[in-house]
Amino acid sequence: MSFTLAIVGRPNVGKSTLFNRLVGKRLALVDDQPGVTRDLREGVGRLGDLRFTVIDTAGLEDATDESLQGRMRALTERAVEMADICLFVIDARAGVLPADEVFADILRRKSAHVILAANKAEGAAADPGVLEAYSLGLGEPVRLSAEHGEGMADLHAVLMPLADMFEARAADAEAPETDVAVDEEGETDGPRLPTRERPLQVAVVGRPNAGKSTLINTVLGEDRLLTGPEAGITRDAISLSMDWLGTPVRLFDTAGMRKKAKVQDKVEKLSVADGLRAVKFAEVVVVLLDGQIPFEQQDLRIADLAEREGRAVVVAVNKWDLETDRQGKLRELKEEFARLLPQLRGAPLVTVSAKTGRGLDRLHGAVLRAHEVWNRRVSTARLNRWLAGMLEMHPPPAPGGRRIKLRYITQVKTRPPGFVVMCSNPEKLPESYRRYLINGLREDFDMPGTPIRLTFRSQA
Ligand code: GDP
Ligand code: GDP
Repeated sequence: MSFTLAIVGRPNVGKSTLFNRLVGKRLALVDDQPGVTRDLREGVGRLGDLRFTVIDTAGLEDATDESLQGRMRALTERAVEMADICLFVIDARAGVLPADEVFADILRRKSAHVILAANKAEGAAADPGVLEAYSLGLGEPVRLSAEHGEGMADLHAVLMPLADMFEARAADAEAPETDVAVDEEGETDGPRLPTRERPLQVAVVGRPNAGKSTLINTVLGEDRLLTGPEAGITRDAISLSMDWLGTPVRLFDTAGMRKKAKVQDKVEKLSVADGLRAVKFAEVVVVLLDGQIPFEQQDLRIADLAEREGRAVVVAVNKWDLETDRQGKLRELKEEFARLLPQLRGAPLVTVSAKTGRGLDRLHGAVLRAHEVWNRRVSTARLNRWLAGMLEMHPPPAPGGRRIKLRYITQVKTRPPGFVVMCSNPEKLPESYRRYLINGLREDFDMPGTPIRLTFRSQA
């Protein structure tokens, strides 16, 4: 089974009909766990030469009242998590309804690959609805009639490049591990161990009282302090080298360090400017939020700055020990994060208690991983195979009838990863298309939480 496809959408658009068409009688298993999963059906899908797992979310036919809508949303999010690709179905006869927009929004935020399908599209009566589907901002809809079996070849065509990609990825994962993979072009590829010749440079930033000092003291208390305060790279910045759970780390310029290191400083509480300076020296920036008052203006500013400076970012939510409804709170935080910091899409969010030390091992893991992703290099061969799939899935626009051609992509830098696409008329390419490619790179090459730079260069 090369990939998992989830069929999502509001009730009555034809999800079950489509599921039955793809799966036929090959229902593999029905998850009988209580709760949300009970409403998910799973089967073996078949479309032409493709074999895949299909998840159907049609369990909630009558989602009319409030609580059911909530469940439907939860169900969809669950399916999105389980799936590689989401097939988002709307009813072309009904057109785009507000409920469809809610789903589109979830999918835009959560799903790596969305295929939009306008179902019940047999006959001309469906034409206006099919056109309206473009307004969802999820690209060109595939015109389907699940009931009459129309549009299956088109569905196959859009699934094909994705299937290839997931297959290649699975093959990669199974390939025997070598230190550095070399592809057909002789380039290095995939995750590489970050060099440890120098310590990993980390800044812990956040507004006053977020718990930075406490965090650093806890870390220092648990781990061996290698060296004391060092003269900084500049007079203003001090750094502290330490061994954090076996990783040599250099921490930059925070209030916490100054207190611990008893460095004399006229200014007692550091300003945001100090945090900003620390960001410049860091490779990984830990944005520490106070879980009691998260995502305040200052937090957003500093997180945004870290992104613009091209740093790997890990968001840590502190004072988790004070939280009673942890699950609810976490969900809320994730939603706020996605809404307020879309530029940091996919960045890890770790809950910690600086005071008790809980979660600090996970924070350590997240920092290492963010650093690794930040250093990642993807081979040109893989990138161009990927680009072909992306172009096929959502062709770039054709202003004035001349389609913009994206010819070639290559990675030009790491730390953070930067890519260049050779392109005809780059100035006419909309920002939304750039975002589509950036999000695609992030998801397909597993680069969460790192700023990705993508530029277009003109080539007729
Ligand atoms: P679900 O709630 O999204 O799973 O929707 P169903 O699969 O149960 O379908 C809802 C209704 O739409 C049923 O009456 C289906 O027969 C009908 N339906 C499904 N697909 C099509 C189609 O392609 N064309 C038409 N005209 N009706 C369809
Ligand atoms: P900083 O100035 O931003 O570095 O913040 P501090 O480390 O000085 O912490 C501010 C306040 O929050 C202090 O009273 C800490 O005891 C408290 N604090 C820090 N971390 C935690 C935590 O994980 N849980 C709780 N309950 N309080 C914390």
